[in-house]
Order: sequence, then C-alpha cells, then structure tokens
Amino acid sequence: MSLIVQKYGGTSVADVERIRNVARRVATCRRGGDDLVVVVSAMAGETNRLLGLARDVSPDPDRRESDVLVSTGEQVTTALLAMALTYMGCPAVSLLGHQIRIATDSAFGKARIQSIDDARIRAELAAGKVVVVAGFQGVDDGDNITTLGRGGSDTSAVALAAALRADSCEIYTDVDGVYTSDPRICPQARKLERISYEEMLELASLGAKVLQIRSVEFAKRYAVPVHVRSSFTDTPGTWVVAEEASMENILVSGVTSERDEAKITLLRVPDQPGLAARIFGPIADANIVVDMIIQNASAEGTTDLTFTVPKADFRQAMALVETLARDIGAAGIRTDESVAKVSIVGLGMRSHAGVAAKMFRTLAEVGINIQMIATSEIKTSVVVDAKFVELAVRVLHDAFLGKGEAA
Ligand code: ASP
Ligand code: MG
Repeated sequence: MSLIVQKYGGTSVADVERIRNVARRVATCRRGGDDLVVVVSAMAGETNRLLGLARDVSPDPDRRESDVLVSTGEQVTTALLAMALTYMGCPAVSLLGHQIRIATDSAFGKARIQSIDDARIRAELAAGKVVVVAGFQGVDDGDNITTLGRGGSDTSAVALAAALRADSCEIYTDVDGVYTSDPRICPQARKLERISYEEMLELASLGAKVLQIRSVEFAKRYAVPVHVRSSFTDTPGTWVVAEEASMENILVSGVTSERDEAKITLLRVPDQPGLAARIFGPIADANIVVDMIIQNASAEGTTDLTFTVPKADFRQAMALVETLARDIGAAGIRTDESVAKVSIVGLGMRSHAGVAAKMFRTLAEVGINIQMIATSEIKTSVVVDAKFVELAVRVLHDAFLGKGEAA
C-alpha cells in the first residue's frame, strides 16, 4: 500500500461538477488501497476575484488581512471535496494549514514553509480517511494565516509529500504534462515522459508555467518524484525526477520563450570600479529583478551596458536609470520594449560541445539577429526582436527536437 499526495489545480475544481469529477477519481484511487492526501487550489479565478475585492476597499491592502482573505478560496474547495467524497461513501476530512500546522515565516503573500507537523494527517489516515488539505496556506509563529505566493498549492503538495515521505506526488492540472515547447506556438511540441529537476527549474523560471518554481526546488531538495498530469484524462503525464545517467544523451529537452522583457542600454558609461554597483544597487533596492546584463569590452575608457527588466517594471526602472545616467556621466540611454527571450534547456549541454553554436546558426539561417546572449550550465538564452519570437521557437524546436531526435 502506498501513500500518495495528489494536488488538483483551480481549473480541476472550477465548479461543482468538476469537484465531483475529482471526488470520483480520488475515490477510485482510494478503493485501490492507497492512502491519499489531496491538496486543492481555489476554484479557477477565485483568488483573483478575492484580490480584486481587497483592492476595491483599499489601494494598498494590508498584507496580513490580504492573506486572511485569499486563503478562503482554498477553504471552500477543501470542504466541498471532503463532502463530495463522504457522500460517495469514501470517508474524508478537510484540514486547513493551521489545523495541520504548516508552519511558515511571516512574509505575507509569499511565505516560505518551515516545517509541517504530520501527526494530525497520520491520525486521520490511520482512521481510514482521505485527508483533503487546503493548498497555498500556512500559519506563522504568531498564529497568523499566511499564503505561499501565486501557484503556491503546488508547493503545499510537494512539501506535504516530503514531510510524509509519500511514495509520489501527483500534480493534476489542465494540461497533460510538460511539453518540449508551448504547443500554441509550436505545433510540433510533444509531451516529455521524464525530465530532471534541474531542467524543470530552468523551464519553470523561463516561462513554462506548469509548476510553481518553489515546488520544484522543494522536490529536488527532498527527492520527491512529481508526476504532472491531467485531471480530465487517464493518460500518464510527465515525471519530474532526479537526474538519470541517460538524460545527458538528450541535448535539449525544451525550447521556451518569454515576451515580457524590456531592454535598456546605457551608452558610454565611464569604465571605473564601482559603476555597475552604482547602477544596479538602486534598481535592486526598488525590487526590480534584472535578468540579463551585458557589458561591452571597454574602448577609450567607456563601455556600453545593456540589461533587461520585466516589462511591468520598465517605467520604474527608467525613472531610476535617467537620474543615474546623469549622475555617472553616461552619453545617453537607448531602450527597446519589444524584445523577447528565447531559450534552450537541456542537461546534455553540460557534456556536449557545439549546442550553443548550433542554436546561433539555426537563427542565422532564418535571418534572426541575436541582440544578447546568456548561458548557464544547462541553458542558452538569446534576446531577439519580439516579432521573431514564434519563428525562433519553431526553428530551434525543429533543429533540436524535430523528427528523429526524439526525447
Ligand atoms: N489559489 C492560489 C492561486 O491562484 C494558489 C494556487 O492555485 O496554487 O495562485
Ligand atoms: Mg498552478
């Protein structure tokens, strides 16, 4: 008999009919003899609706109260699922974060899980019940309700699986797994059977929004095998697992793109110690996350400095950069708000030469100019004109994952 943690996302519990569908799946699984802990999200759209209410009463809602409010979305679905299960003859009990004691820090809206007490869950399982847990929420030292950040139910599920040493963690969503690329952009994209935690972390942070990044970090740290699959079919999805030797044979596992970046260049910045710190210090203080940074080789004592920021932060970043440029004596500023980042990710890049070169050649062949390049151990990213993003993704997918080079 295994212990399985299942998580159902917002679209899987979007209405009463879908909650019954989830209950049927859970009940079937339970009848097979497994112990089950089921984590649920709020009904699709509910968290946004609640956040909207908060903004209606206050332009800057108190963070503690905001968490009290948004955590109610998950309270509704846990109760409904537990009721539906019990009605089907499958005894179940709902538990909220504080009833279990999913202990977190006090960073309201983005709290981190510190520990999970497994006693209550184990007792309910021993009593023969399915335990339905509210995702996304915890409780801090002062007994205040906290939430884990958007998409946080994934992290609740993986953390529970780790704490309970579950045999696996199944994340049920509205897609049937992790794809080699976004099927809406690239019709050739196909579902991956397995992917390593490392690759999934890169894909998650590069805009493949299947799993919250933190949940993958958790899974990696505690070696929790995660199965991402659809709640609307019975087809197996994608396993996110520890790296296996054969995984390095595949050069590239995924091609991703992100459009919401803007590029800022400071022209002819005096090339002196401390200048990068003077520029990026205030930007970091404003909580703007800079993605790529390129500094040219210096010529005649000055250098150009280019970096990208999320489009949403562009105006705020520019306000800072305009003052900074004057203070440090840069010759000018150039900006481009229509850029996109395209990346290839794969463990094989660690041990195979020429992957980046092939990427650049592939883009050159269709006349796409590369504006910036960044690499890490298992990833190469380029910044290109936003109007070429779909073409770039398709040609790269063809080159690395096209017919014959099956994963
Ligand atoms: N309900 C929360 C959200 O919409 C948490 C989750 O669904 O994972 O972000
Ligand atoms: Mg989600």
